[in-house]
Parts: sequence; structure tokens; C-alpha cells
Amino acid sequence: MNKAYEMFMTHIAELADIGHAQSLIGWDQETYMPPRGVAMRARAQGTLAGLYHQRLTAPELVALVEDLQGVELEGDAAVNVREVSREQGRALKIPRDLVVELSRTESMAHEAWVEARENSDFRLFEPLLAKIVELKKEVADRVGYEGEIYNALLDEYEPYARTEEIVPLFEQLRERLVPLVERIAEVDIFPAQGILDQEYPIAAQETLGLQVMEDMGFDLEAGRLDRAVHPFCSGISRDDVRLTTRYSADWLPGSLFGTIHEAGHGLYEQGLPEDAVGTPAGASVSLGIHESQSRLWENMIGRSRAFWTHYLPRLKALFPEQLESVDIDAFYAAVNQVESSLIRVEADEVTYNLHIILRFELERDLFADRVSVGDLPAVWNERMEQYLGLRPPDDAQGVLQDIHWSMGGMGYFPTYTLGNLYAAQFFNQAQKDLSDLEGQIERGELGYLKTWLNEKIHQRGSRLRAGELVMEVTGEKLNADYFTDYLEAKFSALYGV
Ligand code: MG
Repeated sequence: MNKAYEMFMTHIAELADIGHAQSLIGWDQETYMPPRGVAMRARAQGTLAGLYHQRLTAPELVALVEDLQGVELEGDAAVNVREVSREQGRALKIPRDLVVELSRTESMAHEAWVEARENSDFRLFEPLLAKIVELKKEVADRVGYEGEIYNALLDEYEPYARTEEIVPLFEQLRERLVPLVERIAEVDIFPAQGILDQEYPIAAQETLGLQVMEDMGFDLEAGRLDRAVHPFCSGISRDDVRLTTRYSADWLPGSLFGTIHEAGHGLYEQGLPEDAVGTPAGASVSLGIHESQSRLWENMIGRSRAFWTHYLPRLKALFPEQLESVDIDAFYAAVNQVESSLIRVEADEVTYNLHIILRFELERDLFADRVSVGDLPAVWNERMEQYLGLRPPDDAQGVLQDIHWSMGGMGYFPTYTLGNLYAAQFFNQAQKDLSDLEGQIERGELGYLKTWLNEKIHQRGSRLRAGELVMEVTGEKLNADYFTDYLEAKFSALYGV
């Protein structure tokens, strides 16, 4: 291999190791760090972030990337140079002062958001949010973009995605989901209420979660499960994948589906290519593809009748009194209850995407100057009524509910719904390739699906871009039909609409 590429890879390994340390202390902060550790931890994080930026933009590495772009590279070498050049190019275009100002504004905005949410008063957050929007616009202008400005924001989370391609998919989704939600709302049944909100001792919930994770094929020699306030999966490396969940003693679905969701992310991390560890080619593709792995397991498997055919008897063994008289029909209905709600993170499989579409539309309007920061609460409430038939009684249950904007995370939300679309399209293909998938799930044989996902998606790392991956695995571009068909079939049957 060419000498310049060897030197380039030495730099890349060092960057990966700094990233490794950042992930680990970040995980620790969310799990075991005592509260007073926060000040020094923030300093250490700042130092590591600065070090990472300095190494990424070091003149030596800039020169190497430039040299290598003039060389014909193949396979992983081409992917690595392409991805580092992308990241480096972006870092070089944003002046240090702007980075510092954005980071300072974000930490103040976070404090202001917490206070605004507690007091349910958007005006306390408004000036700092406006400042963030202004700075993010400046970043977008510096980095450059084609088409609308939102592309620059989206690209940070879903590389190579284009707003122009997402808009028609989300519009189609909205046009089919709004009437479905309305039809379901007219049906006056609350299937099997009361099954899930009983006392479920936490130790047994944990036993159940670990069992399902192991059945899914999550390797506990290369990962672990802990508790955190906001559940997440952190891939420190492919052999050290840390999942978290949260337990509630009187509400079963939170920990159970949370654990399945994070284990779906975890399988992706553990399944990344072994021969490309610590390189861009060996990393996951995008947030949307990552989310497809968690949603596929959580919803298409974990909320399926086939899954509960196998697991309900096991659940009954753990919780005999709570579930004594509950049959599969009642349990399946209970874990699939659809009801419009004000809060995104509490939403079901159907209404969830309308929460995302609303945020996506507002972000685009904001950055295209069609909506001002001050108008956000009113426009939010209006669209909630239009899409979900509910009007938030206050800002805390409306525009102030999510942390994302206070952290400058504009462009992040659409990756959640993209994840659902990818998941449905992949799942459809898995059903074709594994002719007895449903039977396998009914028998608790989850390994076939895991192996399919490993081979088709995980082991490819980021050698293919998200759009190319979907094409390679399913033979067609990302398409909203698979997801809407899946939802309509499942919930029409459940609700008889
Ligand atoms: Mg997730």
C-alpha cells in the first residue's frame, strides 16, 4: 500500500482513539458519574474535543488527504479518504471563533431551555434559540450546500441525504397517516387497558430484558446493559457496546421495548466489519440506518404477534399474578395501543411519525425564514391540532418538550422517521429472503434475522452510502410505501378500521 496512505492511517487510528476516550467518558457521565463530577468532566470533554479538532485539521493530515485525493484508490482506502476528507473539509471551513461561540451559546441555551420548560414559558428560551439559529445559518453558509439551506443541517446527521428527496416521502406518509389516526380515534375501544400498568418488579423486568437481548444474539462478552435516565446505545468499539435502559415498577413497556430498541442498535455496532475496526469504512452509515436497526427489532419484531406467541408464556412465568388471565390477543393489542398524545417520546408506532414530520417542517420553515423563532409556539400548536387533533395546553407540552434544539440539533429529527422507512423496507426484504421468518420468530429463533442483518447491513460498515445500501439490499430506492402499507395492514386489522 502506498506510503502516504499508511501515514494517513496512523493519523486516523489516533483520531479513533481520541473518539474512543470521548465515548467512554460520555457513557460514564450518563451512568455512574457522581453528580459533583460534572465540572471536571465538562473540562475533560472540552479538551478532548479540541484535541480531536486540532489533529483532524493538522497541516500534515490536510496535506496527506490532498495527496491521496490525487491517487486512484480502491475499496476501503477510497472510503476512508472520502469520509475523512468530508469531515476535515467541514472542520476547516468553520472558523474556531464560530465553533466556540456556538458551543458557548448551546450550553447557555440548554440551561435556558431547562428553566423555560419548568416554567412552561417559551419566552425564556426564545433569545438563545434565535441566537443558535443565527449561528447555525452561518455554519451552513460557511460549509456550503446545494438546494435549500436545510441540506447543510441534515448532512450532519444523515450524510448525503437531500431534503428534496425526503419531502415527498414525508408528505406521502402524512397524507396516509392523518386519516388512519382519525379512523382509529373514532373507534371507541381501548384494547386491554390495565394489563401493562400494574406492578412489575424491576428485578424480573431486568431478567426479561437480558433474556431477550441474548436471544437476539447480543454478545454480553462484548457489551453490557446499565441504567440511565435517557436510554441510549454507545458503541465504544465493536467489542465494547454499552446499552442503557430505564425501569418503571408500574409500567412494563418502557424498559422492555427500550431494551429491545437499544439492543437493535447494539447488534449493529457489534456486527460492524472486524477488518475495518477504528476506520470510517468500519463505522455505521448514518443515524437513519442506525435507527432502522432499533425500530425493526422494537416494532416489527417486538410488537408482533409472532414474537408474543413465543414470549408471552415466558412473561407469564416471570409475572404469574399480573398476567394470569391475559391471552395473546389481549397482550398483542395492549402493546399496540394507538392514541394521539402531546409528547413525542410517549407516542405509538403510528402517531410518532406525525410528531417528527411536524418538527421537520418547522425546522425547514425556520431556516428558510418562512417562520420566525417567536412564531414557533403558535405554529406548533396549530399543526398539532391539524395532524393529531390535539392542542397543547402550554409550551412545556408543546414546543419546549424536546432537548434537541437547545443543543443545536436541527436536522436530527428526520432521521427518526427515515429509520422507520428504512426499517420497513429492510423488513420486507428479510421476509422475502427468509421464507419462514414469521415461523422462526414464533419459535423464538431470532438468530436467522440477526444473521441476515449482519450480512446485508452491519458487515458492510459505511462502504456504501445510505441510499446505495438500501438499493443494494432491497433493489430499489427508499420508498414510503413499505412503511405505510405495514402500518395500515397491522392497525386496520387490530382496530377493525
Ligand atoms: Mg434509537
